[in-house]
Amino acid sequence: MPLYTYHCPDCDKEFEQLVSASDTPACPACGSARVEQMVSRIAPEAKLKAVAKAWRAQATKEGHTSNFGSSERKG
Ligand SMILES: [Zn+2]
Repeated sequence: MPLYTYHCPDCDKEFEQLVSASDTPACPACGSARVEQMVSRIAPEAKLKAVAKAWRAQATKEGHTSNFGSSERKG
């Protein structure tokens, strides 16, 4: 699913959401369904990279990436 940026005209908040093509999300701040899709400002690739990087850092911190060198970890 693509990541879209939306703007809520009711509370002037912007948010990003993974949505399927026929779906329109509601504003997470005020619950309004009148949100507008921000087509001009999509930069999902950079965003997804940042998310992936953060996830990887978190996984590394928690030791999930210990496919090698795990014998050196004894708790
Ligand atoms: Zn809103």
